[in-house]
Amino acid sequence: MGRGEEPADVLLLAILLGAGLALGLGLGNAWFGVSLALGIYLFVCARRWRKLLDWLRDPSPDAEPPALGGPLALVAHRVKLGRDRLRERVNQGETSVALLRESFSALKDGIIILDAGRCIEWSNPAARRLLGLRHPEDKGQHIGNLVRYPGFQEFLSSGGGDAEFEFTVPDARALTLQVQAASFGQASTVLFVRDVSAMKRLETIRQDFVGNISHELRTPLTVIAGYVDTLADMLGDDSPVIAKALLQMRQQSVRMENLLKDLLLLSRFENSDQPEPADEEVIQVCAMLESIRENALTACAGDRRISLQCDASLRFRACREEIETIFSNLIFNAVKYTQPGGSVDVRFGRCDAGVEFVVVDDGIGIDPVHIPRLTERFYRVDKGRSTERGGTGLGLAIVKHALIRLGGEMQVESRPGAGSVFRCVFPAERLAEEPAVYAVSLS
Ligand code: ADP
Repeated sequence: MGRGEEPADVLLLAILLGAGLALGLGLGNAWFGVSLALGIYLFVCARRWRKLLDWLRDPSPDAEPPALGGPLALVAHRVKLGRDRLRERVNQGETSVALLRESFSALKDGIIILDAGRCIEWSNPAARRLLGLRHPEDKGQHIGNLVRYPGFQEFLSSGGGDAEFEFTVPDARALTLQVQAASFGQASTVLFVRDVSAMKRLETIRQDFVGNISHELRTPLTVIAGYVDTLADMLGDDSPVIAKALLQMRQQSVRMENLLKDLLLLSRFENSDQPEPADEEVIQVCAMLESIRENALTACAGDRRISLQCDASLRFRACREEIETIFSNLIFNAVKYTQPGGSVDVRFGRCDAGVEFVVVDDGIGIDPVHIPRLTERFYRVDKGRSTERGGTGLGLAIVKHALIRLGGEMQVESRPGAGSVFRCVFPAERLAEEPAVYAVSLS
């Protein structure tokens, strides 16, 4: 089109110049005629510019470009094309945003978008209902002023990561909410708020059920085991078949007792992520470890070597039952899964992050594919071997929950046939003041 207009423009100029020249020659002044023609041409151009500028200034998005000749027609055409495309994109963007908002509004889970200053930019109705936010009053408010739960600020400052923040809403609904955070864009954050009350209730019912049933089964089991012992004592040497049956009954009842004991302990540890502060005391860790070491040596009839290195200057504060459970489960496991003649090294001392408890064995090891699942209830790499060695499959699950309560973490390194390293790290806050000054080293 532009190319079509350009000759027309040149043609107009040529006609004007021709007519002007003819008029000038007729009047005896050719320059006058040419100047007149150029003046008319400039006038036409100025009018076209004016029309173009008027159209560009017109705020109405549907205004059609004026009819212009020459290169300005091309300019107007290109501007119109650009405008139309831009409008189309804006419309598409607006439709997508509206669609997203509509779908987010229909969600049962809450979504809150925060700006770089952690102020609310947008929230869906579910988030407002779950957190009791007012709309639109709370828009632009700092989320920390509206969601005031201990630990929430720290959770937000840490950026959330993979972590979840869980809390119970302190109103009549007593909802348990779980919040996840994800960063996006320059420094914005999106919060996902989920109502996990039903899940929590079910979990509590499950824990209570396991706890209650374990408790209820203990008494009958004790009675049965007692009678089995009595019958075994009364039995003479002439009934080897019955003696064998009673022995097996005794072994199985011991297994069941251990299982019930572990189930009860696990359900107690699971019920709360934190021990009662009143249950905590400064533990004589080295004495405790020495005693566990002796028990483990007795259990394996002394056919494994167990070395102990313990920094007795550390005054470690913890709940006795929990820390003893961690120590003995890991030491007994190391002994259990190490062949006779093998060795187990136990270490307790300082590390960069605080305090570490490490158990290293040169036993059967674990294929790395199993490591992430070791702390699941009843997860066993080799069920036959575990049962044969008196395992319940609950030891590491109990260790995990005891560690959570003590603020510790466990790392496991192992390879089949190359032994295992179980390392528990406790925060430095677990250390009490006034260190004593001696150390214990046994092998
Ligand atoms: P169990 O009562 O079966 O020992 P645990 O929960 O204590 O249950 O351990 C889970 C599984 O982890 C065990 O069945 C065993 O397969 C594996 N395991 C734990 N500790 C060790 C270890 N030191 N060496 C090799 N395997 C281990």
